Amino acid sequence: MKRDLICVACPRGCMITVEYEGTEVYSVTGNTCKRGEEYARTEIVNPTRNIASTVKVNGGVHPVVPVKTSAPIPKTMIFDCMREINAVTVDAPVKLGQVIIPDVLGTGVNIVATNND
Ligand code: SF4
Repeated sequence: MKRDLICVACPRGCMITVEYEGTEVYSVTGNTCKRGEEYARTEIVNPTRNIASTVKVNGGVHPVVPVKTSAPIPKTMIFDCMREINAVTVDAPVKLGQVIIPDVLGTGVNIVATNND
C-alpha cells in the first residue's frame, strides 16, 4: 500500500510517501531529514497525537483551565483520554504545569495545566 503524508515534525511540512504492508514499512520518500522518516514510520506503525482540552475548575477565576498531554498518546486512545479529561474537576488554585491526571490510561503520559487559574 502507498500513503501520502504531510510531515508535521517541523513547519516545513514536507510531502512524504510511505510504502507499506500492515505495519511493515518498505520505503519512505520525500522527507528532507531523519525526523520525517521517523514521523512517517510512527504514523504507519503506531500513530500518536497530542491532545489539548480544558478541565473544570472549582473556585477559580475562570470556570475551566486549559490542559494538554505531556507527550503524544496513541491515536486509538484519544476518545478514552477525552472521557478521562471531561470527568475531572480540580480545585483552584491551579498552577501552570500542574499535573491534573498522572499517567492517563496507563500511558505514562500526564495531563498538565497550560495556564494558571
Ligand atoms: S521531513 Fe524534516 S524538514 Fe521535512 S517537515 Fe519533516 S522534520 Fe521538517
